[in-house]
Amino acid sequence: MRDTTASGVMPQTEHADEARTERERVVIVGGGPAGLAAAAVLNGSHIDAVILERADEIGASWQGHYDRLHLHTVRWLSSLPGLRLPRREGRWVPRDGVVVT
Ligand SMILES: Cc1cc2nc3c(=O)[nH]c(=O)nc-3n(C[C@H](O)[C@H](O)[C@H](O)COP(=O)(O)OP(=O)(O)OC[C@H]3O[C@@H](n4cnc5c(N)ncnc54)[C@H](O)[C@@H]3O)c2cc1C
Repeated sequence: MRDTTASGVMPQTEHADEARTERERVVIVGGGPAGLAAAAVLNGSHIDAVILERADEIGASWQGHYDRLHLHTVRWLSSLPGLRLPRREGRWVPRDGVVVT
């Protein structure tokens, strides 16, 4: 919180009021796995995150990958925060498991 008073010292009550009303806002460019993960963690920390995605839907890059693609990272290391890949997707999750989940 930047102190804008001429003296460089804000009254204690003003600091307290700002702390109560001010919320951090973050804009994330790209709704791929990285953007979704960042947004989930930020929102879980009570920081408002907005994702700007140029494609029509999230996860667009994975929708464009070939049908038979499987993750080369195991399922339990590949989930997004707060969105666990279900066990039925197996050890090596197929592309559709990533896109649909
Ligand atoms: C064939 C293949 C297999 C892979 N397999 C694995 C794997 O098994 N495990 C693993 O961990 N990783 C794997 N990866 C790595 C993979 O790239 C990452 O897992 C993940 O997709 C990267 O996520 P990302 O969000 O950084 O980028 P991306 O998935 O590329 O998402 C970026 C998003 O940002 C959007 N965007 C870009 N520029 C802008 C802009 N200017 N304005 C608005 N939106 C924008 C795009 O439309 C896109 O939706 C694989 C990659 C490939 C290509």
